[in-house]
Amino acid sequence: MSVTNTRVLRLFWQHTYPYRFVEGGILFSIAVGETAANIVAPWFFKKFFDTLTQAGGNPSEAVLMSLFHFLIIIASLKAISWLGWRISGFLTCFLQPRVMVDLSYTAFENLLFHSHQFFTNSFSGALVKRVSRLVRAFETIMDKIQFDILPLLIVTIGTVTTIFLRSTTLGWAVLAYIALYLGANLWYVQMRMRFVVQRAAKDSEVTGILADALSNSHTIQQFNGYRQEFRLFRKVSEEWRSITALTWRMNEWNMAIQAALTTSIEIVIIYVSLRHWQQGLLTIGDFVLFQGLLIAINGKLWNFSKVLKGFYEAFADAQEMIEILDTPHEVKDKRRAKNLQLKKAKISFQNVTFSYHHLKHILDQFNLEIRPHEKIALVGPSGAGKSTITKILFRFFDIQEGKILIDGQDISAITLESLRNAIALVPQEPSLFHRSLMNNIRYGRLEATDEEVIDAAKRARCHEFISSLPLGYDTFVGERGVKLSGGERQRVAIARAILKNAPILVLDEATSSLDSASEYLIQEALHELMKQKTVIVIAHRLSTIMQMDRIIVLQEGKVVDTGTHKELLARTGVYKTLWDIQAGGFLP
Ligand code: ADP
Repeated sequence: MSVTNTRVLRLFWQHTYPYRFVEGGILFSIAVGETAANIVAPWFFKKFFDTLTQAGGNPSEAVLMSLFHFLIIIASLKAISWLGWRISGFLTCFLQPRVMVDLSYTAFENLLFHSHQFFTNSFSGALVKRVSRLVRAFETIMDKIQFDILPLLIVTIGTVTTIFLRSTTLGWAVLAYIALYLGANLWYVQMRMRFVVQRAAKDSEVTGILADALSNSHTIQQFNGYRQEFRLFRKVSEEWRSITALTWRMNEWNMAIQAALTTSIEIVIIYVSLRHWQQGLLTIGDFVLFQGLLIAINGKLWNFSKVLKGFYEAFADAQEMIEILDTPHEVKDKRRAKNLQLKKAKISFQNVTFSYHHLKHILDQFNLEIRPHEKIALVGPSGAGKSTITKILFRFFDIQEGKILIDGQDISAITLESLRNAIALVPQEPSLFHRSLMNNIRYGRLEATDEEVIDAAKRARCHEFISSLPLGYDTFVGERGVKLSGGERQRVAIARAILKNAPILVLDEATSSLDSASEYLIQEALHELMKQKTVIVIAHRLSTIMQMDRIIVLQEGKVVDTGTHKELLARTGVYKTLWDIQAGGFLP
């Protein structure tokens, strides 16, 4: 999907629109400032010098008065310009950070509502970069429009009109010069883009080789691979040098041509003015007027290729994030979705067919009825579809055929919010926010008091280890909770679920083995959590399986057997095979 530049501008405008009067104020004050200093002031310089030359060496009182008069007007124009720029500057300080925050909020909100699959497929680091680039792109584009393009436009129109008023020949010459300059730069920047992209690719290649070699330094040492690595690094660095030097040379040529053009137009203007002056068509003041105008416009034209380059880069940066903004959310509420009306928390899967990529059915005509408050264990070989069942119950993915009902209501027709309020999930690898333990547990129910959080922690058997930490509940757990052991993290997740107190509980047991003390604590915590709930456990441990009312044995997305542990062991089926392979531990 390609995002056009118009789409980028539209998004930026949508976010600027609430502040349109401020933006109007910025553009107006820049326009006034530019016109006053660079278009109107040169006229008064002209008048000043005309008066001065007419007066000769012995000016009268009246001439001196009018010279002072012009000086005051010039000073006032400069003051207006100063004021215009300051106003636009301060208004920009007000507006830009606000729009930047709004934009990042839009991106943040949009990202969080993307599907489970979306996050499985994307690196969060890359997404973070896209958000910040979008915001930076807005800043760049707005700055360039306000502070470069608008002044250039005003000065161009003003200069061309003024010069036409004094001399048609010169007017055409200046117009042709500006058109040539802008056109050539547009062509140049676009043409150079191809090489800039190649340079960026080479740049990443060099960094890649460096990183690869450094992270494999032990292998290089073992195999004496130095020479091979140096050769590779030198080869790619040389390629980088060659393309970099080429783009730099292009810049030099561009500047050389620009400078030659600028000087030529100055000489042409002075020469033609001289001729006109000889014929009495122009005055000395006109020379000053033209110089004033040309200095202003040349300064702006000189920057034009840089402005264009900035534009191209900013548009490319913004497009990356907008591509995501324009991707529809895969799982969302249907129109007029209702809230789930919970009664007893009965769950039924009816002829459910589901696949992740439309290639292979993970579940094919899957049926399962779970009675209110029944506790079932899903067991089966790895890849059988156990986690998938819990993911579709949560609507992390939508199913292709069949129905999933909770208390007789099709979950595809109820709001995601009410559905997810009804289910508590304790995942295999709970992830924790980089916030205090108190706030991490409180995530189960945001309005819970500290006492309620501590009570849930006690029931989840994590109060003891939390209290033993120097900062207790105020301890910050590292990003993704890395500072806690696996067992501790699961108990924190159980505490969250206890606090949430949802009528349906989904538990994905950790496969990694725990020491017996942790195992015991977790079993106690689970026992507490499962009371009075409809429970689905992806079970790996005998101790959990023993507590269940029914065991569902899955294989390749189908229920192949059901019963209690004893009943299933008595039969020679998948369950018994799994049990025999892993006797004691328990299941994959
Ligand atoms: P289990 O929990 O029984 O080990 P899963 O439900 O996780 O099995 O997986 C069932 C099948 O679906 C596996 O073949 C797995 O590779 C595939 N699968 C799981 N998650 C995804 C996903 N997000 N995208 C694509 N395929 C997936």
